Amino acid sequence: MSCYARVAVPRPLYQTFLYRIPESLVEETVPGSRVVVPFGRKQLTGWVDELVHAPETLPRGVRDILDVPDPQPALTDDLLDLCRWIARYYAAPLGLTIRAALPAVLTVESAARFIVRRGDFDPGLTGSEKRLFEHLRSHKGPVKLSSVRKSLGPGPWSNAAVRLAERGLLEIQQEAPSLRPPLRTRQVVALTRELTSLQERDNVFKRASRQRELYEYLESVAGRAEVAHLSERLGISRSVVQGLVDKGVAEINVEEIASHPFADLPAPPEVTHAPTTAQAAAISRLLDSLDQRPPNVFVLKGVTGSGKTLVYIEVLRELVVRRGQGAIVLVPEISLTPQTLSRFRAAFGDDVVLLHSALSDGERYAAWQALRSGEKRIAIGARSAVFAPVKRLGAIIIDEEHEGTYKQSDPAPRYHAREVAVMRARRAGALCLLGSATPSLESWWQTESGKWQRLDLPERIGARPLPAIHTVDLRSAIKTRGREANGRPSGPVVLSPDLKTALEDRLARGEQAILLLNRRGYSNFAQCLECGTVRTCWQCNVSLTQHRRPPRLVCHHCSHQEPLPEACPECSAPGLRQRGVGTEQVERVLEETFPDARLARMDVDTTSGKWSHHEILERVGRRHVDILLGTQMIAKGLDFPHVTLVGVINADVGLNLPDFRASERTFQLLTQVAGRAGRGEAGGEVIVQTALPGHYAIQYALDHDFDGFAERELEERREPAYPPHTRLANLVISGRGELHVQQAAEAAVSWLQGLLDARRIVGIDLLGPAPCPIDRIRGRWRWHLLLKSREPEPLGRLLGYFARRFEPPSAQIRVELDRDPVSLL
Ligand code: ADP
Ligand code: ZN
Repeated sequence: MSCYARVAVPRPLYQTFLYRIPESLVEETVPGSRVVVPFGRKQLTGWVDELVHAPETLPRGVRDILDVPDPQPALTDDLLDLCRWIARYYAAPLGLTIRAALPAVLTVESAARFIVRRGDFDPGLTGSEKRLFEHLRSHKGPVKLSSVRKSLGPGPWSNAAVRLAERGLLEIQQEAPSLRPPLRTRQVVALTRELTSLQERDNVFKRASRQRELYEYLESVAGRAEVAHLSERLGISRSVVQGLVDKGVAEINVEEIASHPFADLPAPPEVTHAPTTAQAAAISRLLDSLDQRPPNVFVLKGVTGSGKTLVYIEVLRELVVRRGQGAIVLVPEISLTPQTLSRFRAAFGDDVVLLHSALSDGERYAAWQALRSGEKRIAIGARSAVFAPVKRLGAIIIDEEHEGTYKQSDPAPRYHAREVAVMRARRAGALCLLGSATPSLESWWQTESGKWQRLDLPERIGARPLPAIHTVDLRSAIKTRGREANGRPSGPVVLSPDLKTALEDRLARGEQAILLLNRRGYSNFAQCLECGTVRTCWQCNVSLTQHRRPPRLVCHHCSHQEPLPEACPECSAPGLRQRGVGTEQVERVLEETFPDARLARMDVDTTSGKWSHHEILERVGRRHVDILLGTQMIAKGLDFPHVTLVGVINADVGLNLPDFRASERTFQLLTQVAGRAGRGEAGGEVIVQTALPGHYAIQYALDHDFDGFAERELEERREPAYPPHTRLANLVISGRGELHVQQAAEAAVSWLQGLLDARRIVGIDLLGPAPCPIDRIRGRWRWHLLLKSREPEPLGRLLGYFARRFEPPSAQIRVELDRDPVSLL
């Protein structure tokens, strides 16, 4: 009999801890069980990693497990196994990994409780079931497992409870959370009066400049915003809001929050299309593979608008509807993909569970239970839905698999949902399907080498052409604009004549346009004309971004805000020059150039509530918006047939970042945003403004040539080697003292080098240490070192060993291990 268990606790610790299992808990304590254990002077909730038969040498002071709160283990065997793999591969503490995989309710000290549902006996009950049932019936309210044990003594009570629940005689509930979403209402301030002339504004606001700024901000976000968003994100006080109300230009409304906008909507009627030839070919290859063991990983490369969603749906129809299996669908961000979600809802109705961030703990737990019991069979969600406890898993589908949001960069475990999905699917014997118009080079490489299979949807639905793309060279655009009267070069080009004409054209024809600029704020930074000083954040080594509504400087790393200085803080010269265009500036130019156009701006600053993305997109869908302007969040998956023009204000924003993925990201972003144009009958065109028109990332995007780009980029990453040619791990060492951090980084390097030498490990290269490209964030200095390895296994072993053994020279130093990093900044 096993009388000991190794327990993982949710602390940044790499070992598991040995506990004795008291006799009364022997039955329930199995791998994956949630347990309450004494830890130091506290109690912690942890999870059983494994059972141990009496160890030969028992460490002294082994303590007892205090409680097993649930009748069933929190983690099924397959998920526990997956967590162990993640902990090993990413060198992450097992306890933190398990915590990330479970709903919050099962990571805190809540306990399952039993409630009798029906009072009548079932003749088929066994002895222990009968005793438990009698006991529960004699109690009015819910009863915990631990109290059953206390009253009835040790016994097979968990099993009995689960069987009673299966017969519908009792209900197993989770203690703490309510099923209601945490917030039911919100306050929204809405403009009630339009102030058309400047004079009118002067009259109303006089010297109340803050109120005027707020008024103009609200104008820019369709006239309404959540009050909490204004105070939390924009630092606008309640009294300023009240000021607008007192002046009679706005009102505050209390609105109900639906837990999510799809909750109350009936599933839309399903529109079934007959698959095109290419879709049919892809579907039949996927279905054929279902019976192969092990099933394959497929990369579905389908150009934008080629109908990838229909392929996903048909595969799920076979698996879920015909074979009764379960599936997981991952999307980059729930709030940005309403159209995809509603297609799944239309096809599978109530079989679908949406796991999204607006769920309350109770709702999340209920969804989790519904999947685990098999009552619901399809889980759709962002990154962490890869852990959904779907029964009889038949497939994991990842839409837009190239998206960086699939990687958790902080905190540990820093897992990539794609890697985890591939591993989970392989272990479950399930199909893994990765879709994108621009597959990640990692996935592409796997298909090149024949490990994964490739599927192609080379054409848009209805043989519609991909939109023609042309570039406008920003350098010559600046030259032709010449100089202002004072002899200084004029400001940056926001709308080139080409783009302006194209927009005029669309407005005249009543068509829609999308404009992308992947930089929020008004201008990138503010620089003194005299001494050249650029204002930087006091705790991050980055320049502050200037915002217009309300006017202030903001750090995009730590959210520090400060007022816009009137004069240079260094040399007192008046007048700061604004450098680099952000979305707010584009918006202003658009307002001035096209005063009658209906604009919507979508970036982090305008999308306050959880579902405001959805509200904006819905307005676009109803054609209440002529021009949608935004950051990369508008480039994802949108399918609006009346969008005939896409303009990229500046394609170079991400191109010069010191990151080996800069070209890949730029290519993806351009291809994806271009893909929003010309999805309807009217066709479409794309105008890309750039100062680097010859750059290959831009050139291949112009030609819609993914294969060409991939070939070139794979070549670029050969020497020096970067993924996918090599495996990479980034070790970031940070702390408050600059010198200490440098010393710790050097110590880490020599520790690792010593280990590599002593063990004669070849094939792993150690680079660095060096300061991170952003060498200070939130007051912490940052250094990093890179490990490159041709083979994955030795790298994993080395990282695991390092994580367990390396002790930074000072307790203030933090070491973060990031395996397969998506960003090196
Ligand atoms: P992708 O995700 O590949 O960009 P979508 O799945 O959004 O493309 O599909 C693009 C559009 O084509 C959608 O409006 C979809 O309803 C439509 N569509 C997909 N397949 C077909 C088909 N076989 N016949 C007609 N329309 C289709
Ligand atoms: Zn900062």
